[in-house]
Amino acid sequence: MAETHKEKDHNTNAQLDMLRHSTSHIMAQAVQDLFPEAKVAIGPSIDTGFYYDFDYAPGFTEEDLARIEGRMKELVKMDIPIVRKMVKKEEAIEMFHKMGENFKVELIEGIGDPEVSLYTQGNFTDLCRGPHLPSTGQIGAFKLLSLAGAYWKGDEKNKMLTRIYGTAFPDESALNNYLQFLEEVKKRDHRRLGRELDLFSISDEVGAGLVIYHPNGALLRYILEDFERKEHLKRGYQFVVGPHILKLDMWKRSGHFENYRDNMYFTKVDDVEYGIKPMNCLSHIMVYRSTIRSYRDLPIRYFELGTVCRHEKSGVLHGLLRVREFTQDDAHIFLRQDQLHEEILNIIQFVHDVMGIFNFEYEMEISTRPEKYIGTLEDWNKAEQVLKDVLDSQGLPYDINEGDGAFYGPKIDVKLKDAIGRKWQCATIQCDFALPERFDLNYVDSDGKRKRPVMLHRVILGALERFIGILIEHYGGRFPVWLSPTQVIIMNITDEQEPYVKALQEEMINEGLRVDIDTRNEKLSLKIRDGAVRKVPYLIIAGKKEMASETVSVRVRDGGELKDVTIKDFIARVKEENLFRR
Ligand SMILES: [Zn+2]
Ligand SMILES: [Zn+2]
Repeated sequence: MAETHKEKDHNTNAQLDMLRHSTSHIMAQAVQDLFPEAKVAIGPSIDTGFYYDFDYAPGFTEEDLARIEGRMKELVKMDIPIVRKMVKKEEAIEMFHKMGENFKVELIEGIGDPEVSLYTQGNFTDLCRGPHLPSTGQIGAFKLLSLAGAYWKGDEKNKMLTRIYGTAFPDESALNNYLQFLEEVKKRDHRRLGRELDLFSISDEVGAGLVIYHPNGALLRYILEDFERKEHLKRGYQFVVGPHILKLDMWKRSGHFENYRDNMYFTKVDDVEYGIKPMNCLSHIMVYRSTIRSYRDLPIRYFELGTVCRHEKSGVLHGLLRVREFTQDDAHIFLRQDQLHEEILNIIQFVHDVMGIFNFEYEMEISTRPEKYIGTLEDWNKAEQVLKDVLDSQGLPYDINEGDGAFYGPKIDVKLKDAIGRKWQCATIQCDFALPERFDLNYVDSDGKRKRPVMLHRVILGALERFIGILIEHYGGRFPVWLSPTQVIIMNITDEQEPYVKALQEEMINEGLRVDIDTRNEKLSLKIRDGAVRKVPYLIIAGKKEMASETVSVRVRDGGELKDVTIKDFIARVKEENLFRR
């Protein structure tokens, strides 16, 4: 039954791809009808719809998009047949050359076959493998969404083209659902919310992909770190801390220099070369190696909120989600082979517990041996088998991601599903037989012989920057009370209550609450509005009446009001929510 279901999914996707790809052709036709000088490059279907890249020097405007959309609707109405034709390569080259479509000429020249397929609809012919809908009239509902720059063949040495993104669905209601989803995505954009909630900034002045946490964001991060430390201590992890730069020889020995150099930064101190760490493994290995280990000591679990630097291409940097310096909740576990199964289970349980606290659903994937790898084939196969066995033994479903493992071992990746159904890669569990070999790690076994331990690399939240970005979008900036940098704002109505407000704040801070006050000489309605923009869970209004009765009136962010609550009751309520409740 599972097979059939998959097959059906596959067919539906192929159908949708064909619809979207056909819509991209219609868009290209419309563009050339309206802008005859525009040259076409490529126009595939993608997960979210389709795009087409054009070479058109003046560029397109938002108004142009509306015009193109209008022309597309006309073309759909005309119900023009879409006809496939096989032609000799030379013939196709000559034809596109005459049309001045040099990108198409370049594409055809790169094709090995003697013949290529062309698709024609009315006055528009495109080089294409297909398949396509039989006529333009079969296009469903579509919308052009945005403009972007894109290099020809994705190479920054090539010409910059203009990309038009669009999406298409079989009917209006599916399209509208998707457009609503996009609105929701926009509303939740962590870069916008990051500004509004004053959490962080990233600027060209400092450098691309480098995050500066503002007080609210730093506090949020501190809360997460505090949570992490407690959760790791509970589960038998020990804290270690390593340096940010380690000698180049270390990175050569580990294989990072050979396999990961392009992502690393290097520096020279007193004529000695150093690598700035892109991973935290090596210091943890040095701690393990600092003394003789017995089989009884294992597993040993070292944890570090380790800050790493990785050179990511500027094109892929995106807010907090893809940065060049970040802090991982990183641990390395040294263990015997016979402990592997149980320890991986422990980690999966850890992931499960933590994701529940944040209300995330998740899926798992096993990534197998990549092209560039270290270690023996036998170890790789063994490690891949253990990962599968553990998930199978728990009846946990997973996908296989062929060739996507780390260069030193296969891994389990955990993909979170956020509040609006988007998937995010966060936790990973990587199995490693290679580094223990390279650094000659061992333990004394029960028979007195030296044996090699296995090493697990694992993160639970992953990069804190990325996880915070995801949290902002998941909650839409409305953090649960325990995560909110500011849990309460107390505001007065007139100057008379200012001392009362300050005394309340002091009392609540002493009880461990995070409390701001707003004693500005402004209208109460404005203070409430400002508090709502900051998405603070509780806004307390302390007026004359409350002061006299030593109570507070509370506006609750998630709805409703608490009237005349005693201060003690209010504090008890927030403290209760400070536990890791959903
Ligand atoms: Zn096509
Ligand atoms: Zn590691």
